[in-house]
Amino acid sequence: MTLFEKIAARQIPAKIIQEDDDLIVFHDINPQAPVHVLVVPKKPITRLNHAKEEDGKLLGKLLLKAREIAGLLGIAESGFRVVINSGRDGGESVPHLHVHLLGGRPLAWPPG
Ligand code: 5GP
Repeated sequence: MTLFEKIAARQIPAKIIQEDDDLIVFHDINPQAPVHVLVVPKKPITRLNHAKEEDGKLLGKLLLKAREIAGLLGIAESGFRVVINSGRDGGESVPHLHVHLLGGRPLAWPPG
């Protein structure tokens, strides 16, 4: 099982915000902004580079869920960023696809 599958299975504790049949949303353990949430599909797609055509609907759902959670956590109007790190140069550290939702402060661009 991946780390995030273990969180979904309640084998590892996390501050879970929401869950449905397809995804789980929880606070990042090492937040990089006042709001730093991970939106994770329950299907253990390793990384965006490994997503298949058939995963398109699920990928769309992750983005719409990130927007919904931004509203729930009060950062929709101030602004937010969604990030998917894929592979070594992308900065991925957990090999289970996830969307970062970051906000609550101005975020620099370009990223490092
Ligand atoms: P990546 O670097 O793969 O894009 O993002 C992985 C994220 O998972 C990191 O932001 C990291 O802080 C977070 N993370 C790693 N282990 C845990 C954990 O056990 N619990 C939670 N809630 N987040 C984790």
